[in-house]
Amino acid sequence: MNNGVVDPMLEIEDLVHCYGAVTALNHVSVSAAKGEFLTILGSSGSGKTTMLRVISGLEMPTSVRRLRIGGQDVAHLPAAKRNCTTVFQSYALFPHMNVVENVAYGLKIRKVNGPDALKEARRALAMVQLEGKADRRISQLSGGERQRVALARAVVTQPAVLLLDEPLGALDERLRQDMQIELMELQRSLGMTFVYITHSQEEALTMSDRVVLMSHGRIVQSGSPLDLFDRPESRFAAGFMGYENILEATLVAQDGTLGTVEFPGGLRIRGVVTADGLKVGGTVAIAIRAERISPVSAEAPESVEATLTNRIYRGKYTDVTVATGAGPLRLRSWHGVGSETEEIRRVGWNTTDAVIFAAQ
Ligand code: ADP
Ligand code: MG
Repeated sequence: MNNGVVDPMLEIEDLVHCYGAVTALNHVSVSAAKGEFLTILGSSGSGKTTMLRVISGLEMPTSVRRLRIGGQDVAHLPAAKRNCTTVFQSYALFPHMNVVENVAYGLKIRKVNGPDALKEARRALAMVQLEGKADRRISQLSGGERQRVALARAVVTQPAVLLLDEPLGALDERLRQDMQIELMELQRSLGMTFVYITHSQEEALTMSDRVVLMSHGRIVQSGSPLDLFDRPESRFAAGFMGYENILEATLVAQDGTLGTVEFPGGLRIRGVVTADGLKVGGTVAIAIRAERISPVSAEAPESVEATLTNRIYRGKYTDVTVATGAGPLRLRSWHGVGSETEEIRRVGWNTTDAVIFAAQ
């Protein structure tokens, strides 16, 4: 069992980790393919850091059925013998060494001779656009530059798996966005397996080949960024991925993945069923993103009568709330629907923009 991952570089099966009475990881299985950018996404306390600590060997798990890196069983190996390196949010650089010495350090303790280690370190610095700052002191660098040094120091030893624990968390928004792109490019050019931790759904969607969404020590859903964005399978996943409209209704029909729900006043709408095992006649939730809903004039296929209740101009976009037979719905428009919204009589969306899953 490796979650369908071909050529896995990292395999974790049935991992449990407890700190006393706290279960930080509750029967978790994850794999990452060779060269994959895998993101572990979840809010604070969901167990992300614990997972990285177990992979790297800083924490011995309560139990695990299988823990392999590059096909090798590492469950009982000490951290130093595992073919992986961790990059932390706090850069953990040595202040008494200059930039290139910091990067070369990991090679020197691996007994690479001095000149070779410095040559490799300079190459790694070039990869993170810091070749010109090799001789600087750490204190002479900005936060973004320090994080680049930490990255260079991690990749220079060419680990099979690079573990990154919210590495951009300390940087300001603009720099964070630039570094996201740089990190992706670095990962692609190295072809290295990255396991990246973040609590930011935007970061996860931007960078990853695959996202694993966690909550309370369990995996809630995993898939491509598009899967998580467009096909949440639970109320938790939809909420975490930013769905503004999540409504409860009764599932009255299901044909394959096409479901029809009915609201108390009798209004029916259709959507894509993403969860298994829903019962016709039971209460479900249906979710639609605000930006997928727009005012429609005629009787569009998926549309409902609507009355404008609120409109907030936010510069780049306009947030609109309407009252409908399905309850209040939020719309977001980037095309200056502003003035037209006064004439909203109906709002509509594509059938595939509505997703249906269990109510809880
Ligand atoms: P995340 O990185 O997603 O924020 P963590 O893996 O750090 O989550 O923590 C998961 C859970 O384990 C939390 O409830 C946290 O309080 C608890 N925890 C983490 N480290 C320890 C520890 N050393 N001792 C006790 N509880 C811990
Ligand atoms: Mg953490």
